[in-house]
Amino acid sequence: MSRLAAVIADIHAAMRDGRERGQVARYIPELAKVDPAHFGIAVVDAAGVEHVAGDADMRFSIQSVSKVFALVEALARHDERVWQRVGREPSGSAFNSIIQLEIENGRPRNPFINAGAIAVTDLIAVAAYGGIAAILRRVRDLAGDASITVDGDVAASEAATGFRNAALANYMKSFGIIDGPIDATLDVYFRQCAIAMSCRQLARAGRFLMHAGRCPTSGHPIISPERARRINALMLTCGHYDASGEFAFRVGLPAKSGVGGGILAIAPGRASIAVWSPGLSPQGNSLLGTQALETLAQAMGWSVFNPDP
Ligand code: GLN
Repeated sequence: MSRLAAVIADIHAAMRDGRERGQVARYIPELAKVDPAHFGIAVVDAAGVEHVAGDADMRFSIQSVSKVFALVEALARHDERVWQRVGREPSGSAFNSIIQLEIENGRPRNPFINAGAIAVTDLIAVAAYGGIAAILRRVRDLAGDASITVDGDVAASEAATGFRNAALANYMKSFGIIDGPIDATLDVYFRQCAIAMSCRQLARAGRFLMHAGRCPTSGHPIISPERARRINALMLTCGHYDASGEFAFRVGLPAKSGVGGGILAIAPGRASIAVWSPGLSPQGNSLLGTQALETLAQAMGWSVFNPDP
């Protein structure tokens, strides 16, 4: 057994037996039904070898991890114009906070908090840019898996209860940050959050970010190396909302979490990693997923702050 395989097996054993598992997201009724006992992990290494353990092939709601894929799509369509409507600073606030929008003229701090993600999705929500079909196509292409779909029940559940997101969208619209009709933009946003993927599929979809934007199989650029570096930078600084500093301190890898309990983490040049455990910290990040990544990063020496071994 390779060292990586042994580390993953140890992590799986520890997480399976973990007692403190956090709370599943209750504000989206469909997510409240998910059993917190699940734990899955998938690691694709630089050579393309996949290591998995636990519920690595069980699909879950990727939620805010989709914000990475929507950003890639929006940048592909609009290039640097994306940054006219959304910033690149950590917010230090909850993922669904509205407080900074008033002070900062409706321009969200970054593309990974809800307000910023809604503003990014609005850029591709119109039919000309493909809406949810474009985001789904992007995810399928990156994962190399045409079976990935939107979970309609989760999307409907969130649409029925997404008053806070509607407030953010309306508030931004009043500042001219949102172009489209609010309902249409939110519809795409709720559907992208409801994309269902397994850890294995998610780790595959993240491979281009470990390979400086290149397709892992053909070597062709999917995005430029500079764009990949920048997305990784945003994941590191903003990927865990008001726990992003803590995550960088503990794990030291670019990563994006979602309230479904999934986290996509990138060890540049080394691995694309997906973990899933539905119980969350108070900030809305997977409790055991974070612990698993901390253990993995430490055991393998995978940190963007480590010198090359
Ligand atoms: N769909 C969720 C929401 O908008 C996404 C939040 C998250 O995963 N942090 O509330």
